[in-house]
Amino acid sequence: MEKAVLLNDKGLTPETILSAREAVVNMGKELIERKLVAGSWGNISVKLADGVYAVTPSGRGYANQKPEDIVIINAACETLDGVLTPSSESKLHTAIYNACPEAKAIIHTHSIYASALAAMRKPVPAIIEDIVQIIGGRVNCAEYALPGTQELADNAVKAMNGRKGLLLANHGAVCWGKSLDDALIVAEILEKAAQIAIICQSCGGAVELSNEDAEIMHNFYEEHYSKRQLGVEK
Ligand code: 13P
Ligand code: ZN
Repeated sequence: MEKAVLLNDKGLTPETILSAREAVVNMGKELIERKLVAGSWGNISVKLADGVYAVTPSGRGYANQKPEDIVIINAACETLDGVLTPSSESKLHTAIYNACPEAKAIIHTHSIYASALAAMRKPVPAIIEDIVQIIGGRVNCAEYALPGTQELADNAVKAMNGRKGLLLANHGAVCWGKSLDDALIVAEILEKAAQIAIICQSCGGAVELSNEDAEIMHNFYEEHYSKRQLGVEK
């Protein structure tokens, strides 16, 4: 099918596509500001429709990105619109969208503390309220695979186990959200939790929360707290 026809067929207008591209560009700048990415590493995507995603280009820094640099891809990671090469981790992004229908945006970072735990191939333990609320328990570290491979994507989905984040061994972190802002909160809180875990490990270790308490906190987050964050609950 003609690519423009396919986008049209999915109900995607040029305006919708442009605003998704702009949101991805703005998120890149946020990630630099919050020191969650450095250089061109890491990547961002948003889901426009089933099988249509806007993803950052491969190997391009975030500071000067323009909306037209963001590539529109399909579920097979083929370019539907755009001139630059889509992220080399596009398979990782599409695998997560396939596995988690609720996922509307994905942020992959090489943030310092999450990467340190990933280098040790250790999970982020369930030791602090906010990460447990968002994730529901430990953040697993996926089995090692080379970047950009289908194996890395498959290992990531296994390790994520339906949760909103995971670590990639010797690499970094991946988070998804119901929106780009939601994915950003997960990425920030995951990085903070990884930092706390490392501080605790260097000072004798932390006490991990029970699965029961983690579930209570996660349910509270899903049912109430996240809605307060969005302003849809008082
Ligand atoms: P891209 O620049 O191709 O998105 O790759 C960066 C990265 O983080 C690879 O894992
Ligand atoms: Zn990476």
